[in-house]
Amino acid sequence: MALIDFTDKGLYCAPGGFYIDPWKPVDKAVITHAHSDHARWGSNYYLCHHFTKPILQLRLGDINYQSVEWDEPVWMNGVKISLHPAGHIIGSSQIRVEYNGEVWVVSGDYKTEDDGISGAFEPVRCHSFITESTFGLPIYKWKKQPDIFTDIKNWVVQNQAAQKTSVLIAYSLGKAQRILQPLAETGLPIFAHGAICNTQQALIAAGWNLPAIQRVTPDTPKELLKGNIVIAPPSAEGTPWMKKFHPYSVGICSGWMQVRGNARRKNADAGFVLSDHADWEGLLTAVKATGAEKVFVTHGFQSSFSRYLNEQGIEAAEVKTEYGGGEEENGKEKLPDEIITTINETIQQ
Ligand SMILES: [Zn+2]
Ligand SMILES: [Zn+2]
Repeated sequence: MALIDFTDKGLYCAPGGFYIDPWKPVDKAVITHAHSDHARWGSNYYLCHHFTKPILQLRLGDINYQSVEWDEPVWMNGVKISLHPAGHIIGSSQIRVEYNGEVWVVSGDYKTEDDGISGAFEPVRCHSFITESTFGLPIYKWKKQPDIFTDIKNWVVQNQAAQKTSVLIAYSLGKAQRILQPLAETGLPIFAHGAICNTQQALIAAGWNLPAIQRVTPDTPKELLKGNIVIAPPSAEGTPWMKKFHPYSVGICSGWMQVRGNARRKNADAGFVLSDHADWEGLLTAVKATGAEKVFVTHGFQSSFSRYLNEQGIEAAEVKTEYGGGEEENGKEKLPDEIITTINETIQQ
């Protein structure tokens, strides 16, 4: 029996009697981060980072939580559990599990560039590493965050000069918080969709200091919005809710904007390649830094990425999970099959 098994309910540590990010209700759940595909409803007990707890409370209600600091050990049946920064969103953690001298690490979602609010990704040495692979193809290579922020700010200023409202599409948990600081630097008022305001309120109540935003309500006067900034989640894109912002420009913040034509296909005026996941280089660097003898690859381009690792002499296997989807960025969905085939052939050469 392995220290962590892949079961139909999720990643299961049998000696410790707990699951990590289970997709079905269980007795004990250890949660990497508050995105809905990783933190699901119905378990009896949730262990998470202090910063994850207020968002779980907002999304799952007042249930049984235990929250801890990074690197603060919790023991279950003699199994040592600790959380380490994953750099993905506020509170996101890798889960380190140790038992009888054997160490496994579950990455959850992660990014290796420090975004200034999610905590800097910490490489954790282990025997077995379970990694995500959302952007696990060599075509995904991110620009540095300050350069992307400059692009976004320039775009906002141009729109303002043209008396257009800048509507930025960003996930309500993660990128919405990340782009606030650079947007605040433009000096323009920032408005946001209710979903983003609710997350913001929970974070502020938990002690976070985030730039001010104003909720867009049916009563918000149209003139107040003109030439200013609106942040909206992908679900609001193209809905009647947007009508009020006319005239406006839409900019999508997402890793899959890396693929040319995706912004146009989504009828967006601008695409900003800003992701909360590691790019190809980031994934490789992270895997190597663990020193793991065995790597399990979950949601994303798991077959391409695990094949590449094997060719590099790192033993890897792909694993089927129910992560990805929901508010998760999913590069695969946005890429035509022919392109994936071509890329796979390139990796193999
Ligand atoms: Zn996530
Ligand atoms: Zn994920």
